[in-house]
Amino acid sequence: MYQEVQSYCHNNEVQLVAVSKTKPVQAIQSLYDLGQRDFGENRALELAEKYTKLPQDIRWHMIGHLQTNKIKKIISFVHMIHSVDSLHLAEAINKEARKKDRIVPILLQLKIAKEESKYGQTYQDIVDQKEAFLALDNVDIQGLMGMGTFTNDQDILKAEFQNLKQSFDHLKQGVFSELPSFNEISMGMSGDYKLAIDEGSTMVRVGSLIFGARS
Ligand SMILES: *Cc1c(COP(=O)(O)O)cnc(C)c1O
Repeated sequence: MYQEVQSYCHNNEVQLVAVSKTKPVQAIQSLYDLGQRDFGENRALELAEKYTKLPQDIRWHMIGHLQTNKIKKIISFVHMIHSVDSLHLAEAINKEARKKDRIVPILLQLKIAKEESKYGQTYQDIVDQKEAFLALDNVDIQGLMGMGTFTNDQDILKAEFQNLKQSFDHLKQGVFSELPSFNEISMGMSGDYKLAIDEGSTMVRVGSLIFGARS
């Protein structure tokens, strides 16, 4: 299945992040051997441990809720943090990145699903806090990330993806117009990545479809 997903993404000029959470290093190595370099994890400690055991040119994406006290574990090498769900977290990442003399690419996670449990901020939160976001020198805000509602209902997902795309467009033309690298929309998972690509995704995060179901 990997080849199929990979070529679909490639043909649409979309970045495939292979979500390897809970999967053993051998499974990641196998995909690496097929050419995959971008991998996503949702827990900082698991990500940090896999980093030490796998090839150094892997680009590691943090995609899950990140506690501020875990930033240190990944800040020196993480390729991108997709799940920046508050200004507070962005500021904490900025502080740790400065200590390492890095400018770390981040995405702001927008709450697009109806479920209460989903992390993320609203479009208005970001607009209200734009000055504080723009003042951060050691993070590079490269776009938005969103997670759809946990459903197979394509109409619901489509509306949520459209909402994320629209927020992206407004921010790109508005408060973030001075950020040249604000170009990414991370949306789409195993069940909906084609739909997400139709709706403007630039990065999809696909796990179970590639690696098999998680236990
Ligand atoms: C697990 C996870 C994914 C991948 O989910 P699949 O349905 O296995 O493709 C994508 N994004 C986030 C944030 C995740 O935690």
